[in-house]
Amino acid sequence: MPELPEVETIRRRLEPVLVGRRFESVEILDPRLVRPLDPLEIGLELGGELVAAVERRGKYLIVRFESERVLLIHLRMTGSLRHAPAGSLADDPHRRAVVRLDDSSDVAYRDVRRFGTWQLLEPGELDPYLRTRLGSEPLSGAFTSRALREKLHSRRAPLKAVLLDQRVVAGLGNIYVDEALWLARLHPLRPANTVDTADELSLLHRSIRRVLKAGITRQGATLRDYSTPDGGSGGMQHEFKVYGRDGEPCERCGTPIEKTRAGGRGTWYCPRCQLREP
Ligand SMILES: [Zn+2]
Repeated sequence: MPELPEVETIRRRLEPVLVGRRFESVEILDPRLVRPLDPLEIGLELGGELVAAVERRGKYLIVRFESERVLLIHLRMTGSLRHAPAGSLADDPHRRAVVRLDDSSDVAYRDVRRFGTWQLLEPGELDPYLRTRLGSEPLSGAFTSRALREKLHSRRAPLKAVLLDQRVVAGLGNIYVDEALWLARLHPLRPANTVDTADELSLLHRSIRRVLKAGITRQGATLRDYSTPDGGSGGMQHEFKVYGRDGEPCERCGTPIEKTRAGGRGTWYCPRCQLREP
């Protein structure tokens, strides 16, 4: 599912095609996307809006309009966006919305599992909405190893589960947490509050940033549903050190990668490099 690097890749591709463009018409094809609101009404409300900026916060894509309203998109499990000349995309049973822009191009939203959401927020509603849901942005200056310590030291839950909590670090998901923990040599099931030495915290902090930056450089990871807005694939899946690689040798020590569960999610780690006991 799309995590920070995938959403950031989408943002970077959409920004130049959306900013300065007007939404000529918007068709919401699946009421689940905007429920409990009326899809026809939301489509009409979005029509005529002029795009001022395309931003990202955690895994949210933020389309800001000149009117100061915001379209807040969350792709959840399988959402993706395509940009193409109007009417040029093949029919797609999983298409859930289409935005026609004033330069005769379309932005089409596809979502197989249908967990994604589009929310139209009024001026002033975005900040309070995100504040309660998201911790610091891991690639910003606000995310320091000290800030990370503040988030971990009161939590006894497994480290992996805590890092998946969007209020701890915004934008991490199953893939990049496993990769960061391998890089930092930390066991995913270690209680979060036991990661408390300056060295461990600093290494974890750096590892999180490193895997996210690598993911952005590779334009995300394409496992099944994710694609870039021009229909291309990401390349990060070729760089995974542990994710999905059970039985394969660890690149550092040769020990077979193992799979377990943490935070309710399939979790991969090296049993030799990532010891349960510090
Ligand atoms: Zn290893």
